[in-house]
Amino acid sequence: MGVQGVASTFRDLGLSNWIVKSCRALGMNKPTPIQQSCIPPALHGRNVIGSALTGSGKTAAFALPILEKLSKNPYGIFALVITPTRELAAQIVEQFQALGAKLSVRVCLVVGGLDMMKQSVELDRLPHVVICTPGRMADIMNGARPPKLSKLKFLVLDEADRLFEKTFARDIDFIV
Ligand code: AMP
Repeated sequence: MGVQGVASTFRDLGLSNWIVKSCRALGMNKPTPIQQSCIPPALHGRNVIGSALTGSGKTAAFALPILEKLSKNPYGIFALVITPTRELAAQIVEQFQALGAKLSVRVCLVVGGLDMMKQSVELDRLPHVVICTPGRMADIMNGARPPKLSKLKFLVLDEADRLFEKTFARDIDFIV
């Protein structure tokens, strides 16, 4: 712990050695402020609202506790991350794959503009983490083969301020 009781390492935040090593291998040696604030309560199963600028390590602030818990009980679709754009969704997939490489984490991207049937088939195979945009996810959940989400442990609304705008309201409401 640091001088004011603030955790200064990923280990102090409650993460396992394998994940600390994965962070280090990716050049993440010290948690950023948003990671210091969000990771411990997320690991304790609390609801968390985080607010920080782009580039402050927000993605890892939710990806790391998800991967930590997933490593202990990798069963069913474990986490669903909703984000407003396809580009953000693709970046989140990359971070989960990089941080979760040691777990061979299976991540599924569910966004508009890509083959919906393929995405449905992938969801049937129960990936660990699903990263989606609201419209496509709502379409699939409304379709003939809704994904099995009964084992879901984490729901993330990334860029929540944008997701709560009118354009997404119906889809977000439906998914949640
Ligand atoms: P984000 O704010 O999630 O878009 O992250 C911005 C960039 O910061 C990404 O490339 C991350 O890999 C990187 N990053 C996240 N956490 C840390 C950290 N604790 N130390 C160094 N880089 C980090």
